[in-house]
Amino acid sequence: MATFNVTKIRKEAPAGNPTHEHIVGVFTSDGTYRTVQEVADSIEAGDEWQTAPADAPPAAIGVELFCPNAWCMMKPYLSSCPGPFLASDLEKLPRG
Ligand SMILES: [Zn+2]
Repeated sequence: MATFNVTKIRKEAPAGNPTHEHIVGVFTSDGTYRTVQEVADSIEAGDEWQTAPADAPPAAIGVELFCPNAWCMMKPYLSSCPGPFLASDLEKLPRG
């Protein structure tokens, strides 16, 4: 099993629902782009994914059933538990 470090994210507004932007994919430390579905499949296969912010500790990334926006049906979705370090949050990583 491998560990992947996420350094950047890509957010887009879902089609027909411009009320918010959600994560559609991530970039790993070697610059590889993976969609949310690919990351979720990898986590469920046993790989470990974590955020790798420049100035904060890593935070483990987990799979959520849906985007947290109440009117959004995107699934699956990704989140992290950053603890006291907001910069460790997946949602706060710089955009790639
Ligand atoms: Zn959404």
